Amino acid sequence: MTDFQYYFHQLPCFNCKKTTVSTDLGWLTEAMKDDVLAQASAIIEQGNVEADLWVKVTCTEAQAREYLLLNFFGYSDAELAGQVEADDEKEVAEEIAGLLADGVAVFEHEIALQSCTGCDVN
Ligand SMILES: [Zn+2]
Repeated sequence: MTDFQYYFHQLPCFNCKKTTVSTDLGWLTEAMKDDVLAQASAIIEQGNVEADLWVKVTCTEAQAREYLLLNFFGYSDAELAGQVEADDEKEVAEEIAGLLADGVAVFEHEIALQSCTGCDVN
């Protein structure tokens, strides 16, 4: 079993910056989600609201594998148990090996802010 869940959170519309909209945070653990939201609020409080917010997600080596497979390789949490293709495992292992420092890997994590129905920006 994985500790990762797919999270959403009410974040400001990137256009009017006032109305909050349900926004995808992606696959994270609960601790990562709290950390991501703290970083996102800090960015928003500074007034730097862009359509894409970039935050950092810190993973242990084991978490990094699941983080990549879920967020970037499109696996479901159920598939992580044993249906991961060998090529994907290899690619993930190589990426983690390149990132791992002091036992953790730090990923740049994108949160795409939405527009509210009032703004209706395409
Ligand atoms: Zn708006």
